[in-house]
Amino acid sequence: MNKLIHVAEQFEKRGISARVFPSRSEALIALLETIKDGQTTAFGGSMTLQELGAYEALMNNGKNVLWHWRVSGEKVPKLLKDAMNADVYVSSSNAVIEDGRLLNIDGVGNRTAALFFGPPRVIIIAGKNKLAPDYSSALERIKTVACPKNAERLNRNLPCRLTGKCQDCRSPERICQVSVLIENNLNQRSLEVWLVNEELGF
Ligand code: SF4
Repeated sequence: MNKLIHVAEQFEKRGISARVFPSRSEALIALLETIKDGQTTAFGGSMTLQELGAYEALMNNGKNVLWHWRVSGEKVPKLLKDAMNADVYVSSSNAVIEDGRLLNIDGVGNRTAALFFGPPRVIIIAGKNKLAPDYSSALERIKTVACPKNAERLNRNLPCRLTGKCQDCRSPERICQVSVLIENNLNQRSLEVWLVNEELGF
């Protein structure tokens, strides 16, 4: 917990509000409490949110949630656009740099765009496994941990999946299309980082 508290302080210094939760269940309860009735919440693609059971918890609580992981193929493009106009956007981060920055790599760009130019309130929920001491280790964790696992999840025939190493591939199936580093508070938007003292997602 002490380390997470220290990292939260680094976010606060950058104008990004941060909270620390001892467990996933406490983070989930806080999410249920913070989303107001009548608000539309959109989710980014996230194993963290999946493992939290966040979609089901909010929907069972009568909230309106847009998540492209819960609709069929032809409905996805419209939902991704609608998600940009939600009241709240919830996602994880591929890596949380311990000096208070967030690094994300995306295949479509919907999630990364929403983080800095989407809904007015953004909540990032990240387990302690997402911590990285600096930018280069954050990039390393994404390319050698997150990308291979996502390639496996999506059944893509990519070098990182086959070898565990990034080869900066030119594959048409490549999942690293856009990288976004958030280094400070975004003016006129509310960006919150919720750190959870458990391993969540990848
Ligand atoms: S660039 Fe290619 S090989 Fe490297 S992590 Fe991304 S998808 Fe995998």
